[in-house]
This record gives sequence, structure tokens and C-alpha cells, in this order.
Amino acid sequence: METMKEYIEEAEKALLHTYNRYQVVLDKGEGVYLYDIEGKKYLDFCSGIGVFALGYHNQKYNDALKAQIDKVIHTSNYYYNVPAIEAAKKLKKVSGMDRVFFTNSGAEAVEGAIKAARKYAYLKDGCTDHEIIAMEHSFHGRTYGALSVTGNPKYREAFEPMIGNIRFARMNDFESVLSQVTDKTCAILFETVQGEGGIYPAEEEFMKQIRALCDEKDILLILDEIQCGMGRTGSMFAWQKYGVKPDIMTTAKALGCGVPVGAFLMTEKVGTNSLTSGDHGTTYGGNPLAAAAINIVLDLFEENHIIDNVKEAGAYLEKELDTLVKEYDCVETRRGAGLMQGLVLNRPVGNVIARALERGLILINAGANVIRFVPPLIITKEHVDEMMTILRACLKEEME
Ligand SMILES: *Cc1c(COP(=O)(O)O)cnc(C)c1O
Repeated sequence: METMKEYIEEAEKALLHTYNRYQVVLDKGEGVYLYDIEGKKYLDFCSGIGVFALGYHNQKYNDALKAQIDKVIHTSNYYYNVPAIEAAKKLKKVSGMDRVFFTNSGAEAVEGAIKAARKYAYLKDGCTDHEIIAMEHSFHGRTYGALSVTGNPKYREAFEPMIGNIRFARMNDFESVLSQVTDKTCAILFETVQGEGGIYPAEEEFMKQIRALCDEKDILLILDEIQCGMGRTGSMFAWQKYGVKPDIMTTAKALGCGVPVGAFLMTEKVGTNSLTSGDHGTTYGGNPLAAAAINIVLDLFEENHIIDNVKEAGAYLEKELDTLVKEYDCVETRRGAGLMQGLVLNRPVGNVIARALERGLILINAGANVIRFVPPLIITKEHVDEMMTILRACLKEEME
């Protein structure tokens, strides 16, 4: 068998170098632990960037996928398939939204949301110059539409021009949003909790003001729930805790727990006044295998009381991380909700994350100075304790 070093050398000759990857070749998983090909065990507080919510090697999940593989994997959207119908019904139920379009990724869900919003505005006035307001420090994906609303110039610069008529405002700053509103504004788009940008939850007041503004001017509110949704912050979708409802929302990441799938959902009002036959499509989106994944994920969320666990484990994680703010001079603050937390350091976090990996703990960053905690949603207090022991050792070394 080849060693990790040999595989990594081969990888760097064959794969396009778009990631500075950690020097680990992962092999298999069990619960909240991953193993590399040399057998080293890692406690996983990344879950494949908030994807593997149910933990690795969940037998019911695996069995459901295997059963669907033996039936049929793909049919095309020219025909109906039962798994997709079931998945759409279940998603409607847990979200309270009315219409579902399945995609293959988060970025594609954002693309669809943008198209739906533009079409909605187009049907009202026949104009093609509508504007969308997005937020600074946001992240919505790497395709052109999604990148165009991503508030990080570093990701966009070399690929200009973006799609037009996008304006940026500051998250949680209503005046800043208001200053970007014109009579061409068709949508306001943001992550209910900003993920990549550094774990910034929307403030309740901000949400309410934005909703009222959107109602007043018939602007569509689009909430990106790709990272913060699917139970991660202690409700099925993060917006459900705010007492406001979006007109369009996106989901992906934990939706299929590893099978590449996403969705954008909308209210009946938008559904009947935007995209229609011929306006949008996808070869794979919502195929029987992807839809089977969504079905078993949503079933297991209910069966295993995942959201109750997030509330309990999330509160504990929050409390434990807060102690670090007092203990270590390099730790400035903690932000987040449930099992989506950020620990803000007064310096880049790369060294701490690298040391954690050495010690068998997988963490990721969210921006330069923030350590991000997005573990599988099945973690227990014991896993948090195990993580804290390693993290403390790494922070102590950092301060030496
Ligand atoms: C990951 C992410 C995306 C993009 O999803 P992909 O599946 O990588 O295309 C979009 N929005 C948010 C908030 C995300 O975290």
C-alpha cells in the first residue's frame, strides 16, 4: 500500500491545485471520528464543512442509499420519481415553504434563487435592470451568479466581470441596506448566519427591519441556509427562530449528508409568479438517489431527535468555548448559535488548526482569525470535552 506522502505527491501531480490541503489522506469514518489511510483517528469538528450531520457510517442512512441504488439511481426530470416527490413534501413540511426545486449543490441553489427573484420582478414591470442587495463578508458559492453576490473581493477579482446590478451592504446594519435600496431592487439576500465570512448571526432586529422593508416595497427576501440550516443552530432552519419568513430560501450541505444535493424553496406567491416551464432545469437535480438521501436524512433527524441534541450539545459547546475567552489572551470572543460556533483569535488561526490536526482533532477556519466549529449534529458533551482538552493544549502552545 502506498503511504500518505506518496498519495499526496500523486494528488499534487493530478489534481488542479485550487486548495492548500492539509497533509492527510482520509479513509473512513465512524460516528464523529475519521481515520486516515495509516489508521490515525481524528475527532471531527468540521463534518466536511457542516455536511455530515448524522455522523459517519450511519447504518440506516447507508442502507437507504444502497436500496435506492439497486432500484434506480437516475431517471431525468422529464419524468416523476417517488423519492423526489416524498423529499419535496417533507421539505415543505419542515420549512413551511410551498415550492421546491432540487439542485446538485449549494451554489446552484443560489443561482436558482437569483433567477427566481429576477423573473418575479421582470413579470411585474417587464424591465431587465433589477438589482439585488447582498452583504459584505458573505459567501454564496463559486459559480458566476453565486460569486457575484459573494461579498469577498478576493474571490471575485480575477474573474470579473460578474453578473451586473449587485449592490453590497453591511450585515446587521439596516441603514447600510436602506442606503442601497432603489426602485430597481428586486431582492435582498443574506445568510441567516454568515459562515465562511466569520460566523456572524443575523440580529433579530435587523431581520425584522429587513422583512418589513421587503413587505413595504415588494422586495423578495432570500435567506441562504446552506450552512446554517438543517438543524445546525437549534431549529430546522435558522430563520425559524426569528419570527420572520423568507420569500425564497436555499439549502444544501447537510441536506443530503454527503450525497451532493441542494434546493431552493419559495412561497406560493413567488412560485406562481416567477420560474415556469422552460425557465430553469437540471439533469441530475433531485434524482432518485439524491432524493433518497434527503428522505432518509429528514427521517433520521426526527427519529434521532437531532434538533434536541443540537440544543443541548450546542449550549454546552457555547459555554465551554466562552471559558477560553477568559483563559487565553489570544482568544478575543466567541460568536455563533447551536453547533455553528466561531472562536475569534487576535491573530491568524492556521497554527492552532495545524496543531490540532497533529493531535487528532479536525477544525477549520472561517476567515483568517476565526476557528470554526461545525461538528456532526450527533456529538455529545463527552466529545466536546475531548475537543476542549486538545484545543486547550494547542492554545497553550500558541501562547508560549
Ligand atoms: C457552502 C456554501 C455555499 C456553496 O455551496 P456549494 O455546495 O459548495 O456550491 C453557498 N452558501 C453558503 C452559505 C455556504 O456555506
